[in-house]
Amino acid sequence: MPTDFASLRAQFDLPEGVIYLDGNSLGPLPKAAAARVARTITQEWGQMLITGWNKAGWMAQPTAIGDRIARLIGAEAGSVVMGDTLSIKVYQALASALEMTPKRRVILSDTGNFPSDLYMAEGLCRTLGPAYQLKTVAPEAVLDAIDDTTAVLMLTEVDYRTGRKHDMAALTKAAHAAGALTVWDLAHSAGALPVHLAACGADFAVGCTYKYLNSGPGGPAFIYVAPCHQDAARPALSGWLGHAEPFAFDLAYRPGDGIERMRVGTPPVLQLAALEASLDIWDQADIQDVRAQSIALTNRFIAGVEAACPSLTLATPRNGDQRGSQVSFRHAEGYAIMQACIAHGVIGDFRAPDILRFGFTPLYTSEQDVDSAVAVLARIMAQSLWDRPEYKTRARVT
Ligand SMILES: *Cc1c(COP(=O)(O)O)cnc(C)c1O
Repeated sequence: MPTDFASLRAQFDLPEGVIYLDGNSLGPLPKAAAARVARTITQEWGQMLITGWNKAGWMAQPTAIGDRIARLIGAEAGSVVMGDTLSIKVYQALASALEMTPKRRVILSDTGNFPSDLYMAEGLCRTLGPAYQLKTVAPEAVLDAIDDTTAVLMLTEVDYRTGRKHDMAALTKAAHAAGALTVWDLAHSAGALPVHLAACGADFAVGCTYKYLNSGPGGPAFIYVAPCHQDAARPALSGWLGHAEPFAFDLAYRPGDGIERMRVGTPPVLQLAALEASLDIWDQADIQDVRAQSIALTNRFIAGVEAACPSLTLATPRNGDQRGSQVSFRHAEGYAIMQACIAHGVIGDFRAPDILRFGFTPLYTSEQDVDSAVAVLARIMAQSLWDRPEYKTRARVT
């Protein structure tokens, strides 16, 4: 059955009069989430108290929900677990991957990667010693930069600024041919487009759930370890819940079975409850349909903006197959223009130095929304409505 997008949209709580094009940064509230979280608070936490860990299944949540995420990213059952934030999961995946390529010292990434991923890699290199280094090249130069010094290829599949998409299958194959492992960051892929971790032979992957997967601010991240590596991957963040027997309270660490070893500490039960409400909506969506609709929406937006706003420069690949589910335009006054858009009911965001970023999320974004957003942006540009002091003062979060 084809995905019924109108029915999905009706399951989100979207404020009146707002066109929300920022679900790539923070997904909106699923209507069922409030009641779902309230139930966890009052019936589970309130009534069960500590027995909720067993009775309500809180302790099993990170792997049970991991399996639901696995279906969205082409991963095997039992290969994904939830917890911590994405930055932490990047560190964890990298540390294990580096340990599995002991003769090599180079983490290869690209200059389009999200800074936190690069910072975590730098921090890990500092901990491991001066021989370890993070090397970054331009996104287009990654394939040629893979060589026999590369220990780990660490890439974010979809560039957070431009939406440019790497070829996961080809780059993973090249990394393997050179004897390197891969860590894929799916922050802008999971829930945005079909991902085929198992088919690509990806080694490690990480991602967050508060973007396209709508778990709410602070929702936990996930980590994937290919089944063939699960016994070899040693957790650097060896917390008690990744131990083989947390409740044996052994003084010595022994890694748990399979993906369980990538758990660190106590899971965020309330936030996982919110995520479950969102995944109930995802169960009604076919990711292939979502992708087709995403390309249609982004094409429509690009055509509309280019026709109406000649001073904005497209920063996203024009070919739909080569981008994620966002569209970015460059303009020197990008920050003020985005503030004006938000003041006029079209919410996107700004990424330094000059990127206006608009996320398209077929679960709740319609063609009508795209057309209305184009009309608002066209008016702001034609009448220079952005040129006001109050739109030029930078807030803490842009
Ligand atoms: C959003 C994002 C992050 C954020 O990491 P947190 O630890 O969840 O704050 C990291 N990396 C990438 C590529 C992102 O897009």
